[in-house]
Amino acid sequence: METTDVLIVGAGPTGLALGIDLARRGVAARLVERAEALFPGSRGKGIQPRTQEVFDDLGVIDAVLASSGPYPDRMVWRGGERVGEESMFERFEPDAGTPYPAPRMIPQWRTQEILYARLTELGGKVAFGREVTGLTQDADGVDVAFADGTTVRACYVVGADGGRSGIRRALGVDMTGETVDPAPFVVADLRLRGLDRVYWHAFPAADGSVLGLCPLAGTEEFQLAARLPEGSEPEVSPDGVRELVARYTHLAAEDVTEVRWASGFRPRAALADRFRVGRVFLAGDAAHVHSPAGGQGLNTSVQDAYNLGWKLAAVLDGAPETLLETYEEERRANAAAVLELSTGVHRGEVQRGRATVQLGVGYRDSSLSTETRADPGPVRAGDRAPDAEVPGAAEVPGGRLFDLFRGPHWTLLGATAPPRAGVRTLPSTPESYGPGVFLIRPDGYVGWAGETATEDLPAYLDGVGIR
Ligand SMILES: Cc1cc2nc3c(=O)[nH]c(=O)nc-3n(C[C@H](O)[C@H](O)[C@H](O)COP(=O)(O)OP(=O)(O)OC[C@H]3O[C@@H](n4cnc5c(N)ncnc54)[C@H](O)[C@@H]3O)c2cc1C
Repeated sequence: METTDVLIVGAGPTGLALGIDLARRGVAARLVERAEALFPGSRGKGIQPRTQEVFDDLGVIDAVLASSGPYPDRMVWRGGERVGEESMFERFEPDAGTPYPAPRMIPQWRTQEILYARLTELGGKVAFGREVTGLTQDADGVDVAFADGTTVRACYVVGADGGRSGIRRALGVDMTGETVDPAPFVVADLRLRGLDRVYWHAFPAADGSVLGLCPLAGTEEFQLAARLPEGSEPEVSPDGVRELVARYTHLAAEDVTEVRWASGFRPRAALADRFRVGRVFLAGDAAHVHSPAGGQGLNTSVQDAYNLGWKLAAVLDGAPETLLETYEEERRANAAAVLELSTGVHRGEVQRGRATVQLGVGYRDSSLSTETRADPGPVRAGDRAPDAEVPGAAEVPGGRLFDLFRGPHWTLLGATAPPRAGVRTLPSTPESYGPGVFLIRPDGYVGWAGETATEDLPAYLDGVGIR
């Protein structure tokens, strides 16, 4: 029987991001995908600022920035006339700690291509056409069965197999949630003539249904997203999509020159009751599904992978098993908050902007966050560790804190000597952090903060497996 340390099921954004993180850590991982190729649709097209920071660390930000564009403003049409334009976002001033202040637009298939290329560059690969059909686990490992009759034994399995996750069902984990909107939706990628590529065009109808056409940066395509009248059946054939365009807009069906991909769905918000059963983890859509409103699904999924990757690598390298418990603790609470947020955006109760950029995601209540200062400043244990300028520091030739964080290591700010091998240090602490010593986790959150580096720092390092 084949064996591996980590088996990742599903090569969507979650599985690919996790594959990259494990590959750069030298973990033996296998990534298996049921389909014969990467997913072809544009679905999750908004990359939030926090995910851009993750992509910076994973080595794909340049490719993502080069292939993406800013979010266009919305142009509202009625009766074939432009009746008004509006920003999709509540504007807010980014601070010096935010190198990527605005969401970027890029079709999901392109994001996946970029992640896949990076995985390959790091020596990883995807086994396509490999469908997992079941699993059983014991105290030492998991036996995973495939449709072709083969079995792989893994120390850990990550179900990154999407909203209809078979891994979740095999574990007997339920999803609790609600229908966000009783109306059916259609999403499609198409080419058309007669519409500019400056705006995200919206064509509302009198009955509350609406059709949007958003230019997809880096392509000649638009993403169609339509909220259809309640009780109607979404029609996703090419002719059905053309007919939708003709019904809602001033364009004719023939103006749609190509329909490359189309899918129908009903927005649901649901959360898996557990994100972990023994040696098997659920990540991404397998653990939480959202309304597409506010562009949270793909982003939350990538960040699940980013939270889990370093913990799996550390435990495989001898860190206490309890570290893995913090994945569910941190990410399930976060997903619950994101579900509420995306449902709020869908229903028009919350504006896209500060709330949706995910820069405020943090883990202050996590058992992994140790704040020992009596009077903490603006950045506390559990918070995202913001970027800052660090001029003249020999440790940071690029002059920015994120240059020091980039890579799979831990970083200690405000200490001259590394407390353990492998921890990078910076003697000073950026002013924006306030006074103190800060231990930054590999995924960019403050794990431990204290007045000085002595106190209980060694005990914390033991707990996370830094020897
Ligand atoms: C119609 C639609 C529109 C969306 N629009 C948006 C949006 O506008 N913004 C946004 O942020 N998000 C959006 N999303 C959500 C976003 O696409 C998802 O959050 C994202 O794809 C989740 O990534 P994932 O890797 O967890 O799952 P997926 O992308 O679903 O990937 C799961 C992978 O697992 C594979 N797989 C499944 N079962 C098995 C098996 N048994 N064995 C092996 N492989 C298997 C699948 O083939 C698939 O490739 C949308 C989703 C849908 C369905």
